[in-house]
Amino acid sequence: MARKPWCIVALACALVGGPAAGRIFVAQAASQPTPWTLDDARQQLTLHPDDPYLQYVALQLGHNEGKQNEVAEQLRRLNRRWQRQPDRNASLFALFSAAHAIQETLQLDAMQVEGAGLVGEMGVRAKETVKVATLRGPEVKSHPWGKMLAAQSVAGRRPEVSRLALCVPDDQYFVRFGSVEKLLQVVELGDRWGAHMFAQTIGNATTSLTSSRLKTQLAIQTDPVTRPFYDMVVEEIAITGSDLYFRAGSDTTVLFAVKQPRVFQLRMDGFLDAAEKSRSAAVRATGNVLGVPYVSVRTPDRSISVFSAYPKPDLHVRSNSRAALERVIAAVLGKTGDGTPVRRLGETTEYKYIRTLMPLGAKEDGMVYLSDPFIRRIVGPELKLTSQRRMLCYNHLRMIGHAAMLFQTQTGRAPKSLEELADGGCAPGLFGQDKYRCPDGGRYALAGDGVTATCSHHGHAQSLTPCCEIALGSATPQEAAQYEDFVARYSQYWRRFFDPIAIRVQVTPEQYRLETIILPLIDNSLYTGLAQSLGGEPEPLDALPVPDRNVFSVAARFNKPEEAREVLRAKLAGATIFGSRLPRPVAEDDADLLLRFLYEGIGNQVGMHVYDASPMFDFNLTEFLGEMLRNFRGGRRAIDDDIYPFSFLVASLNAPVYVALPVRDAELVDRTLERLDVYLAEIARSRDERGWLDLEMDFYRSPLSGDGPPVRCYSVGFGPVKWRVFFARVGGGLYLASKRFILEDLERLEPSRGEGRASGRQAGEGPVAHAMIRIRPEHWKEILPAFRLGWAEASREACLNNLGPLSSAARLALSAEGGVKAEEILRRADAAHAVHFFCPDGGHYQLAPGGREIVCTAHGSAAMPRQGIAPSENSPMGKLLEQFGGLTMGLTFLEDGLHAVVTLERK
Ligand SMILES: [Zn+2]
Ligand SMILES: [Zn+2]
Repeated sequence: MARKPWCIVALACALVGGPAAGRIFVAQAASQPTPWTLDDARQQLTLHPDDPYLQYVALQLGHNEGKQNEVAEQLRRLNRRWQRQPDRNASLFALFSAAHAIQETLQLDAMQVEGAGLVGEMGVRAKETVKVATLRGPEVKSHPWGKMLAAQSVAGRRPEVSRLALCVPDDQYFVRFGSVEKLLQVVELGDRWGAHMFAQTIGNATTSLTSSRLKTQLAIQTDPVTRPFYDMVVEEIAITGSDLYFRAGSDTTVLFAVKQPRVFQLRMDGFLDAAEKSRSAAVRATGNVLGVPYVSVRTPDRSISVFSAYPKPDLHVRSNSRAALERVIAAVLGKTGDGTPVRRLGETTEYKYIRTLMPLGAKEDGMVYLSDPFIRRIVGPELKLTSQRRMLCYNHLRMIGHAAMLFQTQTGRAPKSLEELADGGCAPGLFGQDKYRCPDGGRYALAGDGVTATCSHHGHAQSLTPCCEIALGSATPQEAAQYEDFVARYSQYWRRFFDPIAIRVQVTPEQYRLETIILPLIDNSLYTGLAQSLGGEPEPLDALPVPDRNVFSVAARFNKPEEAREVLRAKLAGATIFGSRLPRPVAEDDADLLLRFLYEGIGNQVGMHVYDASPMFDFNLTEFLGEMLRNFRGGRRAIDDDIYPFSFLVASLNAPVYVALPVRDAELVDRTLERLDVYLAEIARSRDERGWLDLEMDFYRSPLSGDGPPVRCYSVGFGPVKWRVFFARVGGGLYLASKRFILEDLERLEPSRGEGRASGRQAGEGPVAHAMIRIRPEHWKEILPAFRLGWAEASREACLNNLGPLSSAARLALSAEGGVKAEEILRRADAAHAVHFFCPDGGHYQLAPGGREIVCTAHGSAAMPRQGIAPSENSPMGKLLEQFGGLTMGLTFLEDGLHAVVTLERK
């Protein structure tokens, strides 16, 4: 069965803590309940500014004293997210914003602003005058699929479409795998890496348990004993749904193409029985969609919600939503209830075209596909407006939950009604009325546990009703205007998003491989330009010797346009190069030589390589990626764009780096370098009219080793600072390096050339492509302590972010029951926030003496933080890093699009 949160805690404790892990403090009987005071809450906020519950407590207690605007002002100052993204409308429609981040913003808004609030006239039927169907989504052209597919057929490429692609509607996302085991491996991998990537990049050490919650909801068991069963009886598995709100609540349907129907159904029906028995509230029912009978098992909170049907003997469909089941069954049958034909993904020219580029076969264990109609759907008016209303309702449900927790902390007992929350000074008003009403007219109520809330229309806060079940028909003019505003902004920034997205996954014990194709953008000159300058026959991009201190490489292949020859020649004759004057014109012979050197002497590639060294400036790679991710998610930039290139430049000025160019004609290259020396020496010694900086130039040659090739050093000095570049041809490469020892290392590798993979050589020649990026963790030595420290710091920060919500749960337990074990507090906190809080560095959470606060065994508390100098080796994070054997990304610009392949080596 699906893993429970406490299993993970127990496992983490067992892995890390050893015998000490079982020791958990119980709050002493002497501990006193500690209701919140405003000062108390505001002081805690300075330590945990991102905790939405704490924000609620401070705002509400401020409200009681007429100080809510003052508290709101403090929150704005403390919370970085609001400084980044002050516009709530932008975040409501944002493509990737997480629900919890939007909720914080909405909560602040609801608690502070007087007046009608965001709900406005929503739900007032007379005011909903705009038919949603009449609103227009972003107008972006589709690719001419029919023509593109026809061209492929002419070239002899015929698409093979797997069976389940013919069972789903074309406007839903589609994930298919040939093996259930491989799918589970990818999901687990995604969960594990995802959790740690988020902890590292955005400081969030919680997992949403989406996959395990989904398995529980759909009554699908995947314990180790059951897993081999699937691959024996299942031919293909697919997952589909109509939106991507997995965390908040989405429709999910799983399809199984089955080899042994009787064996399979027996087992799957057994899971339904087990799910029914696992909850007293579970209800079994039977029904029928489009003539296909189904069995359902459901609980009111949707923690179990499964509709199971067999539209064909060897096809099983399992959905968490009846509406979604109907859509999929209609696709299987080919028509809806009223006889309208249903377009199936596998029949579209779009999907068939993609299948000619990515044929089924050895390189594919699974594929994720977001079609053009699906992308239109997720940015379309129906889904955007439905989910906006659901989001406003969700905010109220979370606020009711916060109010109930506050009530319980202040009074020591659970609230009986929403009125009691308002009367007890724990809510800013009566939930369900005026600006605190459900925008779709749903009724709010407290759930049986006394701390979570439900809406009769939108469901339970932990698992909202999927948007496809509550699609909005009519909207207010204000909503329509907001949507039009979104479309205008979308059309400005996201033109290209209308391409379908196809990602193929392959999992083997040695590596994970991801492959995607970005179709050539319609009328996009950037792509055309890149394809022209980088295109041509793809080449192995990592064929030059690799010293064993090379930690990071970027390489690209480029074309040399013939027409540039004459332009260059004219420039040389004019005695200017790169805009600066040469002391004298270049002799015609020398110009010839230089052009031959460029066109025939060196090859078609250039590589930039970074050497292992302790960094002078701390460049935090993962934080940088996180910043990129945040920007990508539509946040506003906190730092100026310009700072990145600048910081790279500063960091690289003194770091050991080199540029490598493969050599085609060694004799020609050497001859050119000899002639170049004459010019360089002259430039270095003539110092006239060189512009605004008083730069000192210098040039000299020295032998690399006893009888080795000469090294040239050209340097530029500015005051006391000097920057040198050393260059030489060594064997098959022409190298420019910032440190001399790099050339020495490269020369040492030379005798082994031609003998294949001698020492210092990386196995293989890298991807055959037009451009590549390669991270070589096997060479991380000097740089590693800095990386490790950065990771440990990020882990600590993410862990400390958890302590606010956990300590609030402890305070509540202390008030209500006079002390509860830490395990129970953690379980309740997980349940209240619908996530699992974990320490990325394997620490465990325990009660501090007094029972009021949760602290981490590895990181202490927010007020007294501590950490190690590296992630501990046995921690989940440490183990992940241990397995990381390298990452390579290859890019190939082809006529049919940009092919990107990412491989992650496993150790
Ligand atoms: Zn509602
Ligand atoms: Zn920790």
